[in-house]
Amino acid sequence: MRPINFAVVGYGGMGSYHVKKIMSKESERINVIGTYDISESQNILSKKDGYIVFDSFQSILDDSNVEAVLIATPNDTHKNLVIQALESGKHVVCEKPVTLNTVEFDDILAVAEKSGKKFIVHHNRRWDPDFLIIQELYQNNQLGDIFQIESRVQGANGIPGDWRHLKKHGGGMVLDWGVHLFDQLLYLIDSPIKKITTDLSFILGDEVDDGFSCAIQFENGVRTVIEVGTTNYTKLPRWYIKGTKGTAKIDDWDLSGEMIVASELQPSTSPKPIQAGVGLTKTMAPPSEEATSKIEFPIINKDISFYQNFYDVVRNQSEPIVKNEEVRKVMKLIDFILFGEKNIKEAEAAYLF
Ligand code: NAD
Repeated sequence: MRPINFAVVGYGGMGSYHVKKIMSKESERINVIGTYDISESQNILSKKDGYIVFDSFQSILDDSNVEAVLIATPNDTHKNLVIQALESGKHVVCEKPVTLNTVEFDDILAVAEKSGKKFIVHHNRRWDPDFLIIQELYQNNQLGDIFQIESRVQGANGIPGDWRHLKKHGGGMVLDWGVHLFDQLLYLIDSPIKKITTDLSFILGDEVDDGFSCAIQFENGVRTVIEVGTTNYTKLPRWYIKGTKGTAKIDDWDLSGEMIVASELQPSTSPKPIQAGVGLTKTMAPPSEEATSKIEFPIINKDISFYQNFYDVVRNQSEPIVKNEEVRKVMKLIDFILFGEKNIKEAEAAYLF
């Protein structure tokens, strides 16, 4: 196996995370040659971590030994860095959100096609264990026909860091976390979108959204809610998913939660009324024990990692797991959410909705 010689641009939170992950799990396939960051403190850190530090982005591009680069810089810088790297004959992995809008993404796609080099966006949350469970439940009929999916991430720390607060850097939660949740959703549900309702929040007074709530209905009848919050001192479940035969709730990243399904047998007794507040209800009474059963979440292991797939795409011409046409769909949806319907060209709107 001939590893891909790799350089990392942007040695901040995510750039350094990629490097650590590659070194611990993917070093057979990916050989990290060195890093470059515009911040001297990050370069010092990289040196301390044992990597060679390039003295400029151009020196990475000029190094014929470097076959591929990772772009892990703030969102507004992705487009130019990716294009320069592709034009210099490098394969490129780019962090999400790939760009600030679809027009920028299309500029990249045109250069990628001309260059003949591989260009893949790091939509890593397709590999999240909680998402893999939801994907399995959506496909395997354990909950019957799924008709409702709610996907949320919520914190109470506001918008973190520096550039994420600013429009010019592509800050805000739609581009930060929204892009992950929309990618998961569109990867999961293979049906055109019928209707979108969005509400961005600006509770903290930033110029960019500090969260949002988005309801998306699909042509196949599935209704979804996608929410990101940064002022939630106690939070709702990560996933809540309903089917005609059961309901699943994944509370958190640790996969805590429960899945309750209707029994095959018809219950012999109907639910008994319970006291609810100062009233009485049969409708909201818990189902009898024989009417439902609790089952374990399926355990799902995805056999190919992001970098294994990247290696296969570069060396063996395999299909990428994260396809650029899928990334483009996500960016079109984000255009719609951030800029409104007027920015979606008619032909493309017909494709998406
Ligand atoms: P960060 O601020 O921690 O790091 C960014 C680094 O890029 C900084 O060290 C900065 O000095 C450097 N930089 C800025 N402009 C540069 C340039 N022109 N050339 C070289 N270096 C430059 O930010 P982060 O959290 O690491 O985010 C970086 C990217 O990774 C963003 O696009 C973000 O959305 C993405 N990200 C992805 C995930 C994920 O799970 N996929 C998680 C976090 C961040």
